[in-house]
Amino acid sequence: MRWVEETKLTYVSAQAIIVRNKTLNSYYASGSNEVQYLRLDYHGARIGPMFKEHWPHIHVYEDGEPRFPCDQSSSGNIVIDFFDFIYRNYYHSKWLDWAELVWDDQAANLGISPNPFPAIQQAFDAHQIPSLLGKYRPYIELMKRAWRENNDALLPLFIDNEKCRLLSYTV
Ligand SMILES: [Zn+2]
Repeated sequence: MRWVEETKLTYVSAQAIIVRNKTLNSYYASGSNEVQYLRLDYHGARIGPMFKEHWPHIHVYEDGEPRFPCDQSSSGNIVIDFFDFIYRNYYHSKWLDWAELVWDDQAANLGISPNPFPAIQQAFDAHQIPSLLGKYRPYIELMKRAWRENNDALLPLFIDNEKCRLLSYTV
């Protein structure tokens, strides 16, 4: 990882080996079929052939295709978002613990009571999409902003989203 001027990310190659139902030591000792390789790539001064690769992108194999767009936020904080993506996908209950902790602080600061977090979580689990889009909408907006601000404060390294959007296939 490289950056300039405190917060401008210029290069990332971040590898994650997700090993499920094993420790990393037992994986190295005897292998496992339940392993997922992910790598976040971004090179601020190099780009792939015309619109072949999202810039930045995620690999699911050590080399070559396919390269996926990352789950990229509006702030351009791709490194922390990569870790957030891994936790939300592979360790969702841990992610939920973190999300609730961050939100609880914010809810207390804003004087929001009762805390809508458990009801919103249940609404997701029960596929209550109209409630999520309706009465819970303002809380969901506040929650996502609280998580965003928490993550951006935790590791404040950003890419230029507009530059990357123009030179990626995303419209
Ligand atoms: Zn790459």
